[in-house]
Amino acid sequence: PRLANQIAAGEVVERPASVVKELLENALDAGAAHINVDVEQGGVRLVRVRDNGSGIPRDDLPLALSRHATSKIAAVEDLEAIGSLGFRGEALAAISSVSRLTLTSNDGADAEGWQVLVEGRDMAPVVSPAAHPQGTTVEMRDLFFNTPARRRFLRTEKTEFNHLEEVFRRIALSEFDTAFRLSHNQKVVHQLPVARDDAARAQRVGRLCGVAFMEQSVSVDIEAAGLRLHGWVGLPTFSRAQADLQYFYVNGRVIRDKVVNHAVRQAYSDVMYHGRHAAYVLFLELDPALVDVNVHPTKHEVRFREQRMVHDFLFRSLHRAVAELRP
Ligand code: ADP
Ligand code: MG
Repeated sequence: PRLANQIAAGEVVERPASVVKELLENALDAGAAHINVDVEQGGVRLVRVRDNGSGIPRDDLPLALSRHATSKIAAVEDLEAIGSLGFRGEALAAISSVSRLTLTSNDGADAEGWQVLVEGRDMAPVVSPAAHPQGTTVEMRDLFFNTPARRRFLRTEKTEFNHLEEVFRRIALSEFDTAFRLSHNQKVVHQLPVARDDAARAQRVGRLCGVAFMEQSVSVDIEAAGLRLHGWVGLPTFSRAQADLQYFYVNGRVIRDKVVNHAVRQAYSDVMYHGRHAAYVLFLELDPALVDVNVHPTKHEVRFREQRMVHDFLFRSLHRAVAELRP
């Protein structure tokens, strides 16, 4: 069974950033109000995500690490040759098969918590008592310690951390009701309190995207025909870092989409110069029935039912906002 886990790991676990994404999503699913992420060596040596969510009942702990799918692949050696097989929804099992994973949790049923530990693919989970407040801590150490070929694909500590921070940023930008902290090698990189009002949200965006973006941006909040667009639109910029400052969320999920890109480019056309990039953090809310988010397994793509209407709404809303920008 652990063999199948390693195959799934190829899909889910590409680098430390993918681990952080899965663990953050689990913590949010558990309704956490506070999430702390501690990483070491770009996340390769350690990723620890601690939440104060619902916790996992003792008897469910080993289940959380197991998966039910079987595989036709007979030899572990074949794994390194296999690309994406489209496994999904078994993140913890996948992560535990390529790292040393400890899951500690308390669902509030007992005063203390429980812990389960797994190292690589050959070990059955062992459950033991452990002190933990309500919530869950997932600690992943030594990513790819048992899959050297994968390990070789990892980049420098700085690059891996940049990817990881980007995952953190994308999630923290859309979950304002949750407090987050990210630390790298014992140094706090982001400390983000819950942001309930507009001012607090703007402050969080400033912390995640930089003061320059916030100072050179205008806020947007437009509603029409059942669509709502809100967020911040900034001046186009040259800088490499800012080139990636393009966050577009549909019903809380970050996406990349041709229709959106086209509307944004058109809206920016008056202020755009060669080589510059639009900078924005935008949230589109619409009837879930009008958008299909399952086009791609990683769910970064969407398909709007009414492309024309969405495009025109975005263009009109953004064009107005961009006109307010003062270079
Ligand atoms: P999925 O999220 O697709 O169900 P995962 O492997 O990510 O698969 O998680 C397995 C299960 O473990 C989850 O369905 C959930 O029940 C439990 N779980 C994982 N992380 C947490 C957490 N932080 N808090 C509470 N439950 C969790
Ligand atoms: Mg999950």
